[in-house]
Amino acid sequence: MGILYLVATPIGNLEDMSPRAVRILRQVSLIAAEDTRQTQKLLHHFGISTPLVSYFEHNKISRLELILNRLNEDDVALVSDAGTPTINDPGYELVRAALAAGHSVCPIPGPSAPITALAVSGLPTDAFLYLGYLPRKSAERRPFLETVADLPYTLLCLEVPHRLLASLSDLEAVLGDRTMAAARELTKIHEQIIRGPISRVRAHFEQHEPRGEFVLVIAGKTENRERWAEERIIQAIRAGLTTGESSSRLAARLAGESGWTRREVYRLIQANKEKV
Ligand code: SAM
Repeated sequence: MGILYLVATPIGNLEDMSPRAVRILRQVSLIAAEDTRQTQKLLHHFGISTPLVSYFEHNKISRLELILNRLNEDDVALVSDAGTPTINDPGYELVRAALAAGHSVCPIPGPSAPITALAVSGLPTDAFLYLGYLPRKSAERRPFLETVADLPYTLLCLEVPHRLLASLSDLEAVLGDRTMAAARELTKIHEQIIRGPISRVRAHFEQHEPRGEFVLVIAGKTENRERWAEERIIQAIRAGLTTGESSSRLAARLAGESGWTRREVYRLIQANKEKV
């Protein structure tokens, strides 16, 4: 019975490749890679000549048999383009199939963008919720964010540059103006971590076109906020309504300041509208 090694690779800086990862990639008889051309560059850099086979989103099921057959005779490594395989990358089905066939699965840990971003965010790390990529469309993103709005865990998600501003707007509208960190191009030359309220991070990227790879880390419901007494929030709602602020804008703003969720504030706004 062979061993399936899950080998983490750098997310930018090649110095993050571990000596153990190099040794295992040399030692196995086959490397299953998300993008063989990308991995070939990595292997070349480290002087590794192990054969490669592609294993990506659209052949991940059909390739199972070939990889499992090889595992009957020898050890195989799985790598993704960057970071830890199976984390928002192909591999889960292979791990499951290898275990079901009686093989061992051995981790060779190393970089992973979401965990790296969480660690440097300055937000609580004791309990967090990893969301992967947010839904692409705002009409799906907002209801999705509602489902996590009341949770006290730090939220962790991936985003692509062309959706960054729209996602930041939705995050602020649904969660309130919470503290966050946008980690960009981690371990690369243009590494940048922008921290602050969501509105400030959004303002930054309105002025500087978002480029590169991003992980967003957002405070959980209670971080940095003491929940206001009901009397105080009702006063703030009435003040906002008299200035003509829209209900949704008011709900988003006060959710950020008060420690109440947007949904709770919205309900209070509806209840207090006629009284203004
Ligand atoms: N399995 C990978 C890992 O463990 O890091 C994650 C794969 S996921 C398909 C790729 C996404 O991770 C990117 O779209 C981006 O959101 C994030 N990412 C990858 N490398 C990054 C980096 N150097 N800096 C910031 N985010 C990164």
